[in-house]
Amino acid sequence: MALITHSGGSQVYNPLESMMSRFNEAVRILGLDEQFASVLKAPDKCVIVNIPVTMDDGNIQVFEGYRVVHSVHLGPSKGGIRYSMDVNLDEVKALAAWMTWKCAVVNIPYGGAKGGIKCDPRSMSKGELERLTRGYTLAMKHVFGPDRDIPAPDMGTGPQEMAWILDEYSKIHGSNSWGVVTGKPLVLGGSLGRVEATGRGVMITARSAMAKLGMKPTDCTCVVQGFGNVGSISAKLLAQLGVKVVGISDISGGYYNPEGIDVLAAIEYVQQSPNRTLEGFTGGEVVHNGEFLLLPCDILVPAAMEDQITPLNADKIKAKLIVEGANGPTTAEADAILNSKGIMVVPDILANAGGVTVSYFEWVQNRLGYYWTEERVHRRSDRVMKQAFDHVYAASEKYKVDLRIASYIVALDKVASTLKLRGSF
Ligand code: GLU
Repeated sequence: MALITHSGGSQVYNPLESMMSRFNEAVRILGLDEQFASVLKAPDKCVIVNIPVTMDDGNIQVFEGYRVVHSVHLGPSKGGIRYSMDVNLDEVKALAAWMTWKCAVVNIPYGGAKGGIKCDPRSMSKGELERLTRGYTLAMKHVFGPDRDIPAPDMGTGPQEMAWILDEYSKIHGSNSWGVVTGKPLVLGGSLGRVEATGRGVMITARSAMAKLGMKPTDCTCVVQGFGNVGSISAKLLAQLGVKVVGISDISGGYYNPEGIDVLAAIEYVQQSPNRTLEGFTGGEVVHNGEFLLLPCDILVPAAMEDQITPLNADKIKAKLIVEGANGPTTAEADAILNSKGIMVVPDILANAGGVTVSYFEWVQNRLGYYWTEERVHRRSDRVMKQAFDHVYAASEKYKVDLRIASYIVALDKVASTLKLRGSF
């Protein structure tokens, strides 16, 4: 497997190759025509832009931004925008393709896309981030559109960035275009339940998986890697189910408490802390990063970033169930090791699809101009996630494959049959 080099100089796995090897496996099992497969292998378009931004000190800095539209066969392309120094084209291509499969798995009428800007949002002021986001939107004015390509938050972005995209795009096009972006603040056409949606989907799919494995939530312990939006809310909702959360982590390190971590106190701690991290958290003993994923637990939720579970650590993982809150946290080679150990993995394109599902609900509400109660959003998204899990589980039994390959089979089957019916690429 080819490695790519990250900003810090470290060598990492190439997520595009990880994605492609699972895709190829699903193509083989489905006996899909190579010609159709080749259409779905290559992204529809990759746009690279350079965005000049006047920094607070008066200097101009140029940032590289990307948007990859992987497919538009099921509807407008959909996917988040990531702000990170590690953003690169191969990563964005993989993430865009994952969005295609993710939307197809949960059966929502979208294709897949992803965007990113190579920047360090933590070191930028609010004004700099606003100018960067507006510059990116201007550069992407012909790519984005409520019926073309609809961005959303991802790592390093949130409702504020979405509000700037909405505003800039609406100014360019001369009218409020609520449906051009999702994950917006509530007062600007956001949806109730969107902030919690990904973590909630993780909890719902974890609950379904626990039921299949005969695991009782109140007898289970759980370790959650990553304490941003997805990790913290997954931890909170799993704790509400009765699962004992014994480990949490973020960029400041890992924290372990076999008696159970007070997740609400940890969330509060992060909100109060000046750098918005768990640094200094005393609700658990500090664990070295390399040890964290190997902590004793029943359920492991990797909710940080790609390539965390690799052949280097997979055989030492103690969990019985892994529920992927992040995109691409497990490399393709690690899958085989986890399978041989009998660990069930609820894959990213299923487990974290709750976010894009409620993004879809937000877009529907924007088009209706009629806004749903939180209870309605939860009820509908829970139903979507549960049905998707059952559908994938049935495919895994039918084809005798793990849940990851089953998810790809479900997604690919859907996209490929649409492609055949449409007949034009
Ligand atoms: N960034 C999220 C994801 O990877 C959400 C995408 C969306 O809502 O469009 O699923």
